Amino acid sequence: MGERWTPKSWRHLPIEQVPTYPDAAALGAVESQIASFPPLVFAGEARKLKAALGRVAAGEAFLLQGGDCAESFDEHSADNIRDFFRVFLQMAMVLTFAGGSPVVKVGRIAGQFAKPRSSPTETLEGVSLPSYRGDIINGIGFSEESRVPDPRRQLEAYRQSAATLNLLRAFATGGYANLENAHRWMLGFVKDSPQSSRYQDVAGRMTDALDFMRAIGINPETHPEVRTTDFYTSHEALLLGYEEALTRVDSTTGDWYATSGHMLWIGDRTRQPDHAHVEYARGIKNPIGLKCGPSMKADGLIRLIDLLNPENEPGRLSLICRFGADKVGDHLPALIRAIEREGRSVVWICDPMHGNTIPAGRYKTRPFERVMQEIEGFFGVHRAQGTFAGGIHLEMTGKDVTECTGGARALTADDLQDRYHTYCDPRLNAEQALEVAFRTAELVKA
Ligand code: PEP
Ligand code: MN
Repeated sequence: MGERWTPKSWRHLPIEQVPTYPDAAALGAVESQIASFPPLVFAGEARKLKAALGRVAAGEAFLLQGGDCAESFDEHSADNIRDFFRVFLQMAMVLTFAGGSPVVKVGRIAGQFAKPRSSPTETLEGVSLPSYRGDIINGIGFSEESRVPDPRRQLEAYRQSAATLNLLRAFATGGYANLENAHRWMLGFVKDSPQSSRYQDVAGRMTDALDFMRAIGINPETHPEVRTTDFYTSHEALLLGYEEALTRVDSTTGDWYATSGHMLWIGDRTRQPDHAHVEYARGIKNPIGLKCGPSMKADGLIRLIDLLNPENEPGRLSLICRFGADKVGDHLPALIRAIEREGRSVVWICDPMHGNTIPAGRYKTRPFERVMQEIEGFFGVHRAQGTFAGGIHLEMTGKDVTECTGGARALTADDLQDRYHTYCDPRLNAEQALEVAFRTAELVKA
């Protein structure tokens, strides 16, 4: 690990999961162009999120993080973004009201385009091709041509992130997220589900509380907390050339910030302490996530924290645990004990998706009950250790997809073929996501 950090000091180090671009000059030209573009987010916003995550680290708030496994260029409509945002607001409402805790809202959105893969190639009916690595790198179509990494895709990813963020900002502050609209966040297809009446009940109680405020002479509309919401963006910092091009000096503090999103995380496959991804992340001041799978050991974790959060700043580092429902009880306690012994401030987040993926015919799926079991296991371990289960990290969509089995509608493996639309891993549909929120709220309250 080099001593002096710069936005490009990662370039001298070994790196995993990088595409090989056929035309280095074309890649360089795109990176220079992006470096000349405006930032997507501002340093002050990243600092505000860090402060909010600091409150999660202290056990005073809960984090809800979620969105697509991989965003795609083909699915970039206002409806898609709105449907995601409203189910996310519903979940946050349930966790705030039923769970009795302030909720920090972070989407896997407006930049979640690059995917690490377990294998460099994919084989279909005897034909092997380079793996799809996310729309920012190559195409999902199963042809030689589509799998060639194309740097111009980075320009498209930037454009789409900017447009998505623009709409999200409008939703968050322009009236859509006003708590007075909570009843209107219902999605058509969820209306006749058990989740729907439970949600209407929560929204009704919240509306009563606002009415009560008015009755005693407090106008809720004068409070920004009622009219607007803080919504942040996050993605995996995988494609470092793109991240470097959007890494900028903050004029107020002189510090470097990634401006491609508010929070960036390091994936489970790219967290080698002496490699490029950790080097890049250590120098930016944004809140950082670190995925922790079964191969993460306590001493390795402490070494990574020495690099990523040497000042022990609350809210700087979130550990996104993704062990699997059957492994969380074996792996999590030792990590928690090491963190407690060393007095490190972290946000503990449960990703109940990535350790619970199973094959189902030609699809990958995740059984809803396994997802819930990992969340319950995570809360159980924290309760036993006396530490705070700070949040959940989900792959979810606002659409009525059929990608994860189970849930209130008891989707089966046979249903997967109906609306299996994900570009990468299977996501919870809107109804399943809301169900997770209700069941997690019970754990938060307990
Ligand atoms: C992901 O979050 O989509 C992902 C690839 O996760 P992990 O790095 O934990 O496997
Ligand atoms: Mn995924």
